Amino acid sequence: PAQRLTGVGSTIFAEMSALAVRTGSVNLGQGFPDEDGPAEVIEAAVAALRGGRNQYPPGHGTPELLDAVVAHQRRHYGLELDRSQVVATTGATEAIAAALLGLVDPGDEVVVLEPYYDSYVAMIQFAGAVRRPVTLRAPDFRLDAAELAAAVTDRTRLILLNTPHNPTGTVLTRSELEAVAAVAIEHDLVVVTDEVYEHLTYDHEHVPLATLPGMFERTVTISSAGKTFSVTGWKVGWASGPADLVASVEGAKNWLSYASGAPLQPAVAVALNEHDAFHQALAKDLREKRDRLCAGLSTLGMQVYEPAGTYFVTTDVSALGHADGRAFCAALPELAGVVAIPSQVFYDDLDEGRHLVRWAFCKQREVIDEGLRRLGAAD
Ligand code: PMP
Ligand code: GLN
Repeated sequence: PAQRLTGVGSTIFAEMSALAVRTGSVNLGQGFPDEDGPAEVIEAAVAALRGGRNQYPPGHGTPELLDAVVAHQRRHYGLELDRSQVVATTGATEAIAAALLGLVDPGDEVVVLEPYYDSYVAMIQFAGAVRRPVTLRAPDFRLDAAELAAAVTDRTRLILLNTPHNPTGTVLTRSELEAVAAVAIEHDLVVVTDEVYEHLTYDHEHVPLATLPGMFERTVTISSAGKTFSVTGWKVGWASGPADLVASVEGAKNWLSYASGAPLQPAVAVALNEHDAFHQALAKDLREKRDRLCAGLSTLGMQVYEPAGTYFVTTDVSALGHADGRAFCAALPELAGVVAIPSQVFYDDLDEGRHLVRWAFCKQREVIDEGLRRLGAAD
């Protein structure tokens, strides 16, 4: 394998889902819902497939999707974009890849929140850049403005942000975002912000970084249909921001995939335009599931850090006598028939992450209950 694959050979999510299938475990690991997205949206994809939308779409994205993203940013956040300020991608994953490859040079430093989503590390490495983690620490997983400022050097090119934050569930507050904005403006940095969980928050308002004064012109905002509309397998995402930054993202996307799936883009446009009610109901449902899983895990003796957003909850398993979350998660299928994600793989600083485990609650109630029952029986 090429050097750029060193240390990033495979994603933990695929590894743990394969383990769940192999062992017949309840999968509370990888974050995908076990119920479909809106029926009308799925029908819109079928109609597009039958309606001849089967050749290359514009590399930039189909006009319906670009317009729908423009309308979404205006309706939800008061952001005024035009089509040239949006690019459609193959999931948020490709948007992240294209943003880093299109905006960062070898040797540049990228400031990133730790724990980090695993593809960030791989893509920073593919870009030949160096990651500079800023740790969100238990129990609150807040962003410390002084630590953020201290992570910036004269080699820093970009801050890679994520709110609502996977895996901790932190929703960055306006004042935390103001700290990010202050640092970005002072050092003339670009910020790439991954907001795929923008609609999955529980009593906490999601504030897009791009809405802060002086930030639109230096921010690339990434989102995706996967989480908002429970279609993680569709891999339709997008990046938006000022035309010059979006052009750089598109410059890289051009050579990664050129264009993304033609029939799914108009269907996601339908979702964005007509199905706000879907994600509003989804967030309500998820909040109840969060409470159910948090209560259950807490009863089992773990320390539970209740998330304000995303569909993940982080726990500390050391009170159960397990100092190492990776060993705990490796043993769990055998012990209990349950799969969870060892959060330590999202840390450089193992002392911070060693004992943390992430559980997904985007699962039907019976699945959550069965997972909890199995964990209880293994106690
Ligand atoms: N960013 C974060 C924080 C995620 O949790 C995920 C998983 N959906 C992604 C990006 C990838 O999104 P997509 O499936 O649209 O590529
Ligand atoms: N975003 C999902 C998670 O955090 C997984 C996506 C993937 O498998 N790459 O669990």
